[in-house]
Amino acid sequence: MVEIVLERDDCTSCGNCVEIDETLFTFDSDDKATMVGAQRDDDMDELEVEDASIYQQAADACSGECIEVYDD
Ligand code: SF4
Repeated sequence: MVEIVLERDDCTSCGNCVEIDETLFTFDSDDKATMVGAQRDDDMDELEVEDASIYQQAADACSGECIEVYDD
């Protein structure tokens, strides 16, 4: 499994992740991005996935550099 982390404090609300896949990323009520199905710990969203390719694309396009992909 691959762990994806989204540090919401650093989200600029640019929408690049949502444009890449709006079934995986969405905006929360505070206009910061969140990952569908993620667990929130403080203002950090965490999600485990089998296929991280879309999340890696989103991380590469993220203007806030707040999406991290941990593939061990
Ligand atoms: S791409 Fe990054 S900065 Fe832009 S909305 Fe998504 S998480 Fe926020």
